[in-house]
Amino acid sequence: MEQVQAIVRIANQHGVPLWPISTGRNLAYGGAAPRMDGTVMLDLKRMNRIIEVNDKYCYALVEPGVTYFDLYQHIQDNDLPLWLSVPAPGWGSVLGNTLERGVGYTPYGDHFGMQCGMEIVLPTGELMRTGMGAMPGSESWQLFKYGFGPSFDGMFTQSNYGIVTKLGTWLMPAPEDFLSCSVYFENEEDLEQIVEVMRPLKIALAIPNAATIYSAVVKAASMAVRADFFQGEGAMPRDALRRMISELGIGFWNLSFALYGPTAVVEGQWAMLQQAFGQIAGARFEAKRLGDDLHYRDLLQAGIPNMGEFNTLNWIPNSVHMDFSPISALDGAQAVKQYQMISERANRSGFDYFGAFIAGWREMHHIFALGFNKYNEDEKSRARALFEDLISSAAAEGYGEYRTHLAFMDQVAATYNFNDNASLQFSEKIKNAIDPNGIIAPGKQGIWPARFASRRGTL
Ligand code: FAD
Repeated sequence: MEQVQAIVRIANQHGVPLWPISTGRNLAYGGAAPRMDGTVMLDLKRMNRIIEVNDKYCYALVEPGVTYFDLYQHIQDNDLPLWLSVPAPGWGSVLGNTLERGVGYTPYGDHFGMQCGMEIVLPTGELMRTGMGAMPGSESWQLFKYGFGPSFDGMFTQSNYGIVTKLGTWLMPAPEDFLSCSVYFENEEDLEQIVEVMRPLKIALAIPNAATIYSAVVKAASMAVRADFFQGEGAMPRDALRRMISELGIGFWNLSFALYGPTAVVEGQWAMLQQAFGQIAGARFEAKRLGDDLHYRDLLQAGIPNMGEFNTLNWIPNSVHMDFSPISALDGAQAVKQYQMISERANRSGFDYFGAFIAGWREMHHIFALGFNKYNEDEKSRARALFEDLISSAAAEGYGEYRTHLAFMDQVAATYNFNDNASLQFSEKIKNAIDPNGIIAPGKQGIWPARFASRRGTL
């Protein structure tokens, strides 16, 4: 941490911008790359101490280089009765993913929501702690988020206001029982009713985790490759899609969620939820416990880190992808509107709809993974044009992205433009005040320091 401070001071003296990364595995959103040439990568992965795991209050305090695999292993090695919430790739950084406001699949899946306390090296080299960490001798740094006065943690997420060197995260007490539940729905038109049934259950926490509705192609990609069903050009036609669904025994929509707690409670909830989703004609149910033959997504719902989702990238050969991630209300009609908007545009541009809706507290992160063959220049340029079109078409309907790939940060930032871009202007005022030399991550999230303002829109 002293070394990070020293680096920041040197960077200020020489006017050299830094791009901090934790493990740098921000794949689907641009990876470890900076926004601007001439930026020095500040790779923190060797700061990998697990400083504390506390099983009385159920939290961990970690450095940037600690991965989900590391923290999980530590918990297992020490036989602690704690569960993690993990994003699909287990190799990422607990701190890095939380700073991007990433998601996991247990009831603690809102990673920023579960964060408590940060230590930050500010752009001019001072060291600061948030919340109760600002009080020397406090033992509540990882217990109470807000401290006294303004609460600053959010400022250091999806931003370029500092380098976070420690982060606290709450952990879930290991539940007595766990049931990973799947519901398969037959028809494209079922989406509206699925979401309508889900909303009150989610808001009341009868479904406690990030319930996810996977489209047929996403579900299929964890079991097969596209060429098994269609080898032509362009998006997969309807008849091939139908054949794929029937051969694999999956749904057009495939809902996953999990239940946690005493067995009697879990079984009671599952019976109630089967009744609720059973209103949708043709719904099929499946439930698994730990020790059963678990799919990688069941493991994610149990907070067990893995890399299973990377197999879905084999859907097409030589695939890479960018995630288009608009927020949808937890509302059936809105979900259908977004699904139609994205799938029709994707299909027209020659891409399959590779999408999923991940339910948050009162909204859904709609993730459309736009995959393309990295060696095919035509596909690459069609993918880029489609992505740009999706951002502007979504914004025209009032839909904004929760996170985006580096190449589209300026475009997305410009869609959050209420009252003459008041929000971005405020972000840049803060940037210029606390980072006068524009040292930390210029252009991150579309926030440009005055010194590099001419770079806006150049990537
Ligand atoms: P990093 O790459 O280290 O950090 C991300 C960014 O945060 C950096 O570029 C930097 O701008 C900032 N940052 C990092 N560290 C610091 C620091 N110390 N100080 C200041 N700023 C910093 N994401 C999800 O959330 N949930 C998912 O389920 C999910 N599924 C995915 C599935 C696939 C197949 C793929 C390819 C990606 C998926 N992702 C998902 C996206 C992404 O890969 C993960 O979020 C990953 O955890 C991010 O990489 P990282 O943890 O190494 O963070």
